[in-house]
Amino acid sequence: MAVHEVDVVIVGAGLAGLSAGLSFHRAGISCVVLEAGDEVGGRVRTDVVDGFRLDRGFQILNPAYPAIRRLVDVDALRLGKFWRAVRVADGDRLSLLGNPLDTPKAFRDVAARRHLSVKDLAALGALTVRAAAGPAQAIVRGEDRATLDELRRTGLSDRAIESVFRPFLSGVFLEDGLSTSSRFFRLVWRSFLSSAPSLPALGMGELPRQLARSIPSDGVRTGTPVEAIGNGRVRTAGGDVWNARAVVVATDGTTAAKLVEGVPEPSWNSVTTWYFAPPRSPLSEPVLLVDGQGGSILNTAVLTEVCPTYAPEGASLVSASTLGQLAEPEMRRTLTRLYRTDASSWPLVGRYEIPHALPAMPSPHDFRRSIRFGDTTYVCGDHRDSSSLQGALASGARTARAVARSLTGDRGEERP
Ligand SMILES: Cc1cc2nc3c(=O)[nH]c(=O)nc-3n(C[C@H](O)[C@H](O)[C@H](O)COP(=O)(O)OP(=O)(O)OC[C@H]3O[C@@H](n4cnc5c(N)ncnc54)[C@H](O)[C@@H]3O)c2cc1C
Repeated sequence: MAVHEVDVVIVGAGLAGLSAGLSFHRAGISCVVLEAGDEVGGRVRTDVVDGFRLDRGFQILNPAYPAIRRLVDVDALRLGKFWRAVRVADGDRLSLLGNPLDTPKAFRDVAARRHLSVKDLAALGALTVRAAAGPAQAIVRGEDRATLDELRRTGLSDRAIESVFRPFLSGVFLEDGLSTSSRFFRLVWRSFLSSAPSLPALGMGELPRQLARSIPSDGVRTGTPVEAIGNGRVRTAGGDVWNARAVVVATDGTTAAKLVEGVPEPSWNSVTTWYFAPPRSPLSEPVLLVDGQGGSILNTAVLTEVCPTYAPEGASLVSASTLGQLAEPEMRRTLTRLYRTDASSWPLVGRYEIPHALPAMPSPHDFRRSIRFGDTTYVCGDHRDSSSLQGALASGARTARAVARSLTGDRGEERP
């Protein structure tokens, strides 16, 4: 058993823990990040299987997120971009819906008013102007309701909601009731307006790896699960003890609730992502495909059309995500219908079931939940801000600022 001394111990090297660690490092405060897993990243990791890059659950990075712009060298990630549009499968058609100024190919289906009437387009325009105008803080502090209510109040028709918005947003929120906070919806919409959803060339796991590389190498210790926390002291499963002036618990919300008294456990939205390697790309476009008939697949995409590096040279990789369980024959039948090509024998390269993917965010959602749980114990993570890359990174940085102020005796209030 060894006893160590440091200014701050961070428990967990997901995005929140790494963001906090980087902030301390930049502020000259000594810290160590103790991570249970064999690699950094938490819920943002990528496995390489037979040359295919499989993110642990399909997810996308939006480079317009403010915390990404502040903390990440986006150019170094060599992003591949999705079109800012969505393909909606309906019967034997695949309509392309998006802003024609950004995706000219979408003009035909938008002009033909497939799925969206003139009234829907006007409602969408108004929603877009409201989301884009003014500071993000106005959204965070604005009215909150379920996203479904927000869409209806905006004036969108039931047809537009059911065939476009519900399929698309269910994949963002990982719940199909659209009960997620409309504040969060407006922020997500705003970020889609400013930048295209993207994937790093080396997989989503490259994002936390890049952050970890900015922290001195002895500052992040993987394979080090923490068992107990109390009063400026952390005990690892291996029996080591770390004494610190502050402890930042940056685990997922369920683990934080076990380690720290008073932290509420979130309820979780789950997802399962399947990866297939068809012999050739079934859709030669970097676009998200959703089921306008509200089938069991949340969304699917040919990831190699976004980033060819997701597969060995010349090969294709398709992701398909579902909310609940789906038997493989049903998955293949649905893919066959959506891509209008036989998917029955596409090789399956991976399948990830993630019961704890996103902390649920019903309205009203508070983007700045308390982070201090005792004199020296702080808690950060997406469950304290918002269930997203942005939420996790911003939470880590916000917590690091609070700890730094406390260590330096600065009693200034947290910036709103
Ligand atoms: C499938 C999926 C799809 C998503 N899609 C998107 C998307 O498209 N866009 C978006 O913005 N966000 C998306 N998200 C959400 C985003 O990935 C998360 O909100 C964010 O990564 C959470 O980071 P975190 O640091 O708060 O938590 P975590 O990533 O959970 O990190 C917690 C860390 O703590 C470690 N830990 C736990 N217990 C201990 C212990 N006892 N001792 C030491 N370490 C411990 C864990 O191993 C982990 O590394 C998605 C998430 C998933 C899972």
